[in-house]
Amino acid sequence: MKTLSLSILICLVLSVKVAMTAEPQLSGTVLIEDVTILSAHQGQPQHHMDVLLEGGRIERILETGTNPPSETIIDGSGKFLTPGLIDSHVHLGHNPIVNRDDAPVFEALNHAYRLQLPRSLLYHGFTTVIDLDYAPERNGWLAESELVPDVHHCGRGVRFAGGYGPAFVPPQFVERVFPNLVYEPQHKAFWPDGMDPELYTVDAAVERVVRSGAVCLKTYVETGFGGVFEWASPSAETLSALAKAAQENGLVFVVHANSAQAWQMSVDAGADVIAHGMWHWDGDRRGAELTDAALVAIQNAVAAGVAVQPTVQVVVGEKATLTGALLQDPRTLPLLPRELSDYLQSAKGRWSQRVLLELYEQHNPFADTTPETLIDVSIERAMKSMERFHRSGGVLLMGSDTPAQDGIGNLPGLNGYLEMLGWAKAGIPLDRIFWSVTLGNAKGFQIDNELGSVEPGKQADLLLLNRNPLQDVSAYNDIAIVIVDGKPIKRGDLSAR
Ligand SMILES: [Zn+2]
Repeated sequence: MKTLSLSILICLVLSVKVAMTAEPQLSGTVLIEDVTILSAHQGQPQHHMDVLLEGGRIERILETGTNPPSETIIDGSGKFLTPGLIDSHVHLGHNPIVNRDDAPVFEALNHAYRLQLPRSLLYHGFTTVIDLDYAPERNGWLAESELVPDVHHCGRGVRFAGGYGPAFVPPQFVERVFPNLVYEPQHKAFWPDGMDPELYTVDAAVERVVRSGAVCLKTYVETGFGGVFEWASPSAETLSALAKAAQENGLVFVVHANSAQAWQMSVDAGADVIAHGMWHWDGDRRGAELTDAALVAIQNAVAAGVAVQPTVQVVVGEKATLTGALLQDPRTLPLLPRELSDYLQSAKGRWSQRVLLELYEQHNPFADTTPETLIDVSIERAMKSMERFHRSGGVLLMGSDTPAQDGIGNLPGLNGYLEMLGWAKAGIPLDRIFWSVTLGNAKGFQIDNELGSVEPGKQADLLLLNRNPLQDVSAYNDIAIVIVDGKPIKRGDLSAR
C-alpha cells in the first residue's frame, strides 16, 4: 500500500509540474525499461529495473512496472545496463596511422582520423577517457565532433632534459614539444640553452598542470626500454617532491614505469598509479620467467597500495604493427573510414611497420632471435607480471595506452577491448575487469562522484549490452546502445562505414 500511495504521489507531482510548464519537463527524458543493471557498487545484478534519465543524469531507478512518464522508451528486457567504460590511459592528440612526413596526404587523412576517433572510442563503449599527457589548447579539434567521450587529463607530462621524450628532439625544440620540464642539476649537460632553470622547478611544473584543469599529474621513469637506449631519469628526491606537490594539490600522481627498477622507484616515491605493466628487468632479454627483482618490485607495489595499469596492448600492439595482422581483421572496419583503410593497405601506409623493423634490426643483439620472438617474450612477461600482481592483492586499473606507438597496433576503441581480452586470457576474473574499467578507474582518478556506477544523480553515460560481461568478456563487443550524457545512440551509428 505504501509503495502504491507513494507512486500515486509522484505521479501527481509530475503531472502538476507538466501542467505548469507546458511540455519541457518530459522532453529529453529516456526510460530504459525492464533491464538488468550491472554496477560494481552492488554485489549482485539488479533484475527487472526501470532507469529514468533526465538532463544528462540518472534521475531515478525503480522496479519495473511503475511506468514513469518519459519521452523516449528503450526496451531493456534481456539486456544489461552498465556504466559507460573508462579508459584511464589514452593519448588523443597522437595520430599513429598517418605518416606526418607524408605531407601531400597527411592533412586530409589526419582530418578523417580525428573525426572518427571519438566515435571509435564510443563504438567500443568508452564514454570517458583520461589523457595522461594533454594540452587542452592543442585539442580544440575534438569539439568539431558532435559526440565526444568525457575527457579528463593530467595536463602536460612532467619531463626531464635528456630523459624519455626530450632526448628524442634537438635541444632547440625541447621547450616547444615538452613544455613542462623540471630542471635537475645532475642533468645540466642536457638543459637547452636559453631556458631559465628557475622557471622549471617542481612547484612550477605542478602549477602548470593544475592550471590546465587536470585531475592527475604524470611523470616518467624510463631509462631506455630495458637497456636498448640510455636516457636520464629523475632523482628519487625530485620524484618524491613531485608526489608530495601533486597530492597537496589534489592530483593523482601517475608514473610511467615498465621495468622492475622503475616500478621500485615509483613505489619509493609514493606513486598513486603506475602507468604500465612490467616487461623489462635486468638479465637475459629472452627469458620470460619473473626474476627475484621483478617479484620484489611487484610485492612492494602491492604492499604500498599502488594501482597499476598493465597496458599489455603496448607490447601486443607492437607485435600487431610488426606483423600487420590487424590489417586483415574485420573488427577494424567500423573504426576506419575507407580512405584510412586504403592508405593502411598501401605500401606508403606500412611505414610504421618498416620503422619498427629497422629499430629492431639496429637493437637486436641476438643473431638467433627474431624481433617477433623478442616481442613475444615481452608479452609473456607483461601477462605474468599482471597476473602475479593481481594474485598478490594488487589493484589493477584499465588503461590501454591508446595509441602507445605508430601503426595499426593500437586502434582507438578496439585497443581498449583487446586490452580487456588480454586480461581475461591472463586469468584476471571478469568481475575484477568490470570493476577496473568502471568504478575502479573512477575512484582511482577521483571522478567517482560523477561516474563509474549506475546510481541516481550520476552522469548518464551508460551502455546497453546484449550479453553479460560478468559471464563472457566478449560481451563488451556486443553493445546495443551507447548512452552519452543521457542521449542514446545505436552502436551502428558510430561506425565509420
Ligand atoms: Zn602512454
